[in-house]
Amino acid sequence: MADSSSSQNLLEVKNLTKHFPVSGGKVVHAVDNVSFSITRGKTLGLVGESGCGKSSCARTVIRIYDPTSGSIILDGEDITKLSQKQLLPHRRKMQMIFQDTYASLNARMTVQDIVAEPLRAHHICKSKAEEREMVADMLCRVGLNQEHAGRYAHEFSGGQRQRVGIARALILQPMLVICDEPISALDVSIQAQVVNMLRTFQEEQGLTYLFIAHDLSMVRYVSDDVGVMYLGQLVEKCETDEIYAHPLHPYTQGLLSSVPIPNPELARQKQTAGIAGDIPSPIAPPKGCRFHTRCPYAESRCSEETPAFREASPGHFVACHRINEE
Ligand code: SF4
Repeated sequence: MADSSSSQNLLEVKNLTKHFPVSGGKVVHAVDNVSFSITRGKTLGLVGESGCGKSSCARTVIRIYDPTSGSIILDGEDITKLSQKQLLPHRRKMQMIFQDTYASLNARMTVQDIVAEPLRAHHICKSKAEEREMVADMLCRVGLNQEHAGRYAHEFSGGQRQRVGIARALILQPMLVICDEPISALDVSIQAQVVNMLRTFQEEQGLTYLFIAHDLSMVRYVSDDVGVMYLGQLVEKCETDEIYAHPLHPYTQGLLSSVPIPNPELARQKQTAGIAGDIPSPIAPPKGCRFHTRCPYAESRCSEETPAFREASPGHFVACHRINEE
């Protein structure tokens, strides 16, 4: 197990597994035996290619999906097997910001109704006036204004829509916020504004974030720790500075070599090995180390034995036979 239990941890995820049955009696191994924790007020960045299971992991943690096995401890309480009704009081503590604001914001609702929806679900306000005041205050805090409340989400730019999504997620003052690629669809010029806003809210409210991204460059400035997922499994996890300075898993090294370098001279000098081949199907993940079909260091036992997720140096966990031996 990667992390020890501690009341300092807001979230503890242990051996989480999520399989989706598909036709023909087959199963999609979306998340397999993933363990991690997040300290209160900190950010864990979860990174990996599209299809690696990071979003399924996040949605299982927040109980949009029911886990197949494993456990989810939020603020000291086991929420793994609670029914949707039993979950209701815990929903206030965990909210989600989505990548696709077209899909996640109802086009037929005004911004007022979108942002007020969580307040209504939890019967927070005693009057319409109180609700309007809370929504106006929240809109102001995300850089919008009261005049925006009567408009519809499709009337806004991508950056403004994401601000509405953030307002909706934060109006209940949650403890844990899952940010599922919240800046990937935005213009580069807007990305920094949204990231800075999320950081400000974190400082002001002590928020804890699980920040999902598909490349390592996006999580560098927001995460205290970084976890790297490959084909449903966590393959490396450590402090953010450590993962950029000493990436151990060949997959992490490949992801880092794909990060664009702004200086063309440096970019030419860099070994852009990248990662060869495509990610295999999660319906039939390779035996042994799941990365062996693409790993430049694979040896015979890599296709037979699953490497354990071990602590290679203090706080630095990795699943690779080669590293564990060293
Ligand atoms: Fe590569 Fe083998 Fe390590 Fe997997 S266990 S990452 S295949 S060297």
